[in-house]
Amino acid sequence: MIPRERIRNIGISAHIDAGKTTLSERILYYTGKIRQIEEVRGGGKGATMDSMELEFVKGITIASAATTCQWNDTQINLIDTPGHVDFTIEVERALRVLDGAVMVLCAVAGVQSQSVTVDRQMKRYRVPRVAFINKMDRPGANPFGVVRSLREKLGLNPVALQYPIGLEKEFVGVIDLIEMRANYFEGENGEIVASKPIPKALEASAREAREKMLDDLSMFSDELMAAILDEATVTPEFLWEVVRRATLSLELTPVLMGSAFDNKGVQNLLDAIARYLPSPLDREVTAETGGIVIPDLDGPFVALAFKLTQDEFGQLTYLRLYSGTLKPGDRICNTRTQDVFRVGRLVRLHADARQEIAEAAAGDIVATLGANCASGDTLCSEGTQVSLEQMFVPDPVITLAVAPATQEDAGRMSKALNRFVKEDPTLRVGTDAETGATLISGMGELHLEIYLERMQREYGVRVDVGAPSVAYRETISQTARFDYTLKKQSGGPGQYARVIGRIEPIEESTEEPFVFENRVVGGSIPSQFVPACEKGFRDAIATGKLAGYPVVGVKVILEGGAFHAVDSKETGFRYAAMQGFAQAFANAKPLILEPMMRVEVETPPEFVGRIQGNLMSRRGTMLGSQIEENSARLEAEVPLVEMFGYSTGLRSLSQGMASFSMELSGYRPAPASSIAA
Ligand code: GDP
Repeated sequence: MIPRERIRNIGISAHIDAGKTTLSERILYYTGKIRQIEEVRGGGKGATMDSMELEFVKGITIASAATTCQWNDTQINLIDTPGHVDFTIEVERALRVLDGAVMVLCAVAGVQSQSVTVDRQMKRYRVPRVAFINKMDRPGANPFGVVRSLREKLGLNPVALQYPIGLEKEFVGVIDLIEMRANYFEGENGEIVASKPIPKALEASAREAREKMLDDLSMFSDELMAAILDEATVTPEFLWEVVRRATLSLELTPVLMGSAFDNKGVQNLLDAIARYLPSPLDREVTAETGGIVIPDLDGPFVALAFKLTQDEFGQLTYLRLYSGTLKPGDRICNTRTQDVFRVGRLVRLHADARQEIAEAAAGDIVATLGANCASGDTLCSEGTQVSLEQMFVPDPVITLAVAPATQEDAGRMSKALNRFVKEDPTLRVGTDAETGATLISGMGELHLEIYLERMQREYGVRVDVGAPSVAYRETISQTARFDYTLKKQSGGPGQYARVIGRIEPIEESTEEPFVFENRVVGGSIPSQFVPACEKGFRDAIATGKLAGYPVVGVKVILEGGAFHAVDSKETGFRYAAMQGFAQAFANAKPLILEPMMRVEVETPPEFVGRIQGNLMSRRGTMLGSQIEENSARLEAEVPLVEMFGYSTGLRSLSQGMASFSMELSGYRPAPASSIAA
C-alpha cells in the first residue's frame, strides 16, 4: 500500500475556457494514463473533435468523479469539481473530499468571475492551493498582472516560484526560482523536461525575481530570514519545506506558469502538487456526531459516499475513506439509514480503465459497486456510528412543473427522478397540491435544465415543462403580540389551552430562520406542554399566511398562558400556538421575501454599459465593477426571478463574449408587483 503521505487528493478549478480540460488531459498523458495527445482542432469551444480517443478521455475525465494517476512516488487522485455554481452541492461535496487544489488561470484574462466564486468556496473549506497561470503563449499574456490580481481580487498571498522564458509566441520554458535552473520541454509532446543553465539575457531578471520570492517567503520562516544573508545555505529542500508549510496553513499561494496546450510547464506543476499540497494526513475532518476523525489505518472504517453514478455496469458509489481500511465483503453500516450491508467489489478509476483492488485505506478515493446509500451518506464499521459533518444543503430556489408527454413517459420519468434525487440532495421532487402536477425544485435554471436533459438522454423521457417559479419566503417586520385561548368545554371531553406572548423579527442571515424562547414562569403553562407549543409554532411557520410560503426570520417568545387540570392536552396547546402565531403574524406587518442572486459578469469592456443597463432593468443593484484594458468585471445583486434566461440574454448583449456566474446571496422584501400569482 502506498504510504499515506504520498497521496494527493486534489481538484482543479478554473473559469470556463481557462484550460482545465486541456491541463487534465496533459496530466493524464505525462503520468502515463493516456498514450496519445489529440488536439481540439480549430480552437475554442464547440470545435470538432476528430479523435475517438479524445472523446473517450474527455468523456471520462468529465464524467468520472475521480481519476487516479501516479507522478514519481506520488499518487494523485484528481477529483472532478464542476465549474458551474448552479451545482453548489456538487461543488461542496467535491471540496469536502479533496485535500488541495490547483487553480488554473488564463495568463491573459487573469482572475475571472468563476474564479472568484470558487475562491470563496475554497476559503470556506480551507483548501490549500497552488495557482497555475496557463496560456502563457497567448498574445497579451501577462503573468505578473495575474499575480497582482490574485492579490487584489482574491486577497491571496501569491508568490511566483517561476519566471517565464519569453512570453506570447516566444514563450519557451520557465525558470525555476528555487533551483535557479531553466526548464525546457522537449520531445514531440514536451515529455522530456530538460534542465539547463539560465540564459544569460535573463540572469539579472531571474536573480531579481528570486530575491523578491525569498523576501516573501522569509515572512514565514525566521530561519530563512537569517539564512538569506548567507545564500549558500538556502537549499531547494529547505525552500520547498517553507513553501509547503505556508501553503498548508493557507498563508501563501505558490504560483506556477505554463502552457498546457503547448506542453509546457505541466510536469513542474505536478512536482508542485507533490511538494506543496497536503496529503490526507495533513487534513482533519470533524464528525457531526462529535470528535475528529483521524486518518488512522488501524482505526474503525469511516468513509463518505460523495458521488453516485450509474453506467452500464450498475451503480458506482465513490468513497473517500477517512479512517480504517475496507475490503470487499466487509460488513459496513450506513449511519443515516442504519442499513448494514456487505461491500461489493472495490475499484480504482483511471482515465481509461477500472482497476479492481483488494483493499482501500484511510486517505484513498475509490469506488464500490452497488452500495446501499445516497450521496452524502457516511458509511462506517458496524457499531461506530460516526456521521461526518453534514454538508450544507441549501434550500432550492427555483421550481418547474414537469408533465410526462405520454403515459409511457410517466413511468420512466418517475424512475429517472427517483435516481436523480438519490444522487443530488439539492434536487427535490414534489407535487403541486392544487394541480397534482409533478414539481422539480433546484438551485437554478441550469441545474434543472441538466436534469431535464438527462431525463431525455438517459431515460428517453419526453416531458412538457411549465414556466419556472422561484421560492419566496415570508417574514415579519415588527413585533406583535398574541393571546389565544382554545376553549371547548361543553359536553364530552373538553379542550382548554391559552398561550400568551409575542413574535419579533430577527436579523436576516442568521443561520436559524426560527427561534423559540420559553419565558413562561410560575407554571401558567406546565412545562410538559411547552414542547407542544413549540411544535405548534413550527407548524405555523411552515406555511405563511400571506401566500403560503415558509416563514423565516421570526423569534417567538412564549410568555405565559393558562391551562385546565383535566381538559388541557398537548394537541390543544399545539393548536393554540398555531392560532396564536397566525393572530400575531397578521399584526406584524408581514412581507414576502424573494431570493436574490449575487451575479458576476465578465466581459470585454465595450459591453459594460449595455450589460449594466440590462442588469438594472432586471431590478439589479450594482455592487461594484472593475474595468481594465481587456476585460471588465461587474458585480450585482439581482432577484432570481429576473435572472431567467440570462445566459441567452447575456450572449446576445455581448456577441457571446461575456460570461457570468451567480450564487444565492440571501432574501430581500419583494415588491408586490413582482410576485407572480
Ligand atoms: P476548460 O473550459 O477550462 O476545460 O478549457 P479547455 O481545456 O477546453 O480549453 C479551452 C480552449 O483554450 C481550448 O480551445 C484549448 O485548446 C485552449 N487552450 C488550453 N490551454 C491553452 C494554452 O496553454 N494556450 C493556448 N493558447 N490555448 C489553450
